[in-house]
Amino acid sequence: MYDLLIIGGGPAAFSCAMTARKRGLHCAVVSADATTGWLWRAEQLDNYPGMPAVSGRELLRVFRQQAEDLGAEIIHAVARQIQSFGGSFMVLAGNDVLESKAVVLAMGAARPKLLPGEEELIGMGVSWCGTCDGMFYRGKRVAVLSAWEGGVEEAVFLAGLASAVDYYTLAPHAAPDDARIRLCGGRVKELRREGKEIAVVTDQGEERYDGVFVFRPAVAPDRLLPGLELDGAFIRVNRRMATSIPHVYACGDCTGQPLQVAKAVGEGNVAAISAAEDLM
Ligand SMILES: Cc1cc2nc3c(=O)[nH]c(=O)nc-3n(C[C@H](O)[C@H](O)[C@H](O)COP(=O)(O)OP(=O)(O)OC[C@H]3O[C@@H](n4cnc5c(N)ncnc54)[C@H](O)[C@@H]3O)c2cc1C
Repeated sequence: MYDLLIIGGGPAAFSCAMTARKRGLHCAVVSADATTGWLWRAEQLDNYPGMPAVSGRELLRVFRQQAEDLGAEIIHAVARQIQSFGGSFMVLAGNDVLESKAVVLAMGAARPKLLPGEEELIGMGVSWCGTCDGMFYRGKRVAVLSAWEGGVEEAVFLAGLASAVDYYTLAPHAAPDDARIRLCGGRVKELRREGKEIAVVTDQGEERYDGVFVFRPAVAPDRLLPGLELDGAFIRVNRRMATSIPHVYACGDCTGQPLQVAKAVGEGNVAAISAAEDLM
């Protein structure tokens, strides 16, 4: 059981982890691949105090190292679902379930772009979670659509259950090398229900499956944590960085403008202090 799980792997998350450790909290940062964060893409920053003309990658490396040196655990996984459960939170991170007394959302501003038909078919033949739903497709035909290498592990897991697994790439990454998994070409354009099956429509035609699994390195905040109040595309917070759900805080770009590193680290610091106060 963690005191605090911090979802995200950018400046807001690492700043939050540093202060959480200074407040004595047992905490971990659940972080997708660093290359997916915005800071990774910033060639040079001139307005971060104390580090003139620093590259985004170097700044991120220093933040992360400092958090680790203070005792924060880093878990390499995408958080896919958070559920409130009898006074604590269960976080599905990759294929593991983690438990925490409080959660900080520090996921940045990037939002996954869904395929036409995807949202409507979630829970009706389309899933974002192999661990949660794989068993429903034992002995059946499934497709895995993945925008990143995290889908490879999922496809291998599903190949142990399903009778056939077809793999489509939504964005370039190393495809699975497993004789049980068939690699499919074509750009996926749409998902559509056809009777009891789901059709994967590509620019080369269409194939039908009993189930379709879609994997991306990010999840929309209100999908990650149902019931979370938003302000447009951003998470609603107060000055303590508390969200609409008790013991859930948010910081950084995911709370809105200005989208800046100094604001992200400041909010991460506030979120950690608020969590520590509320857990006392
Ligand atoms: C090209 C460019 C130049 C920029 N220049 C500047 C500048 O000069 N000065 C400045 O102050 N700011 C600049 N910025 C903005 C700055 O990078 C952001 O404001 C800052 O990175 C926000 O930090 P964050 O921690 O909120 O989000 P991010 O840095 O975006 O980090 C979020 C992280 O969370 C991870 N994540 C998301 N969802 C999940 C999940 N479900 N599970 C696990 N992990 C998840 C993401 O993969 C990502 O690694 C620039 C941005 C870009 C793109």
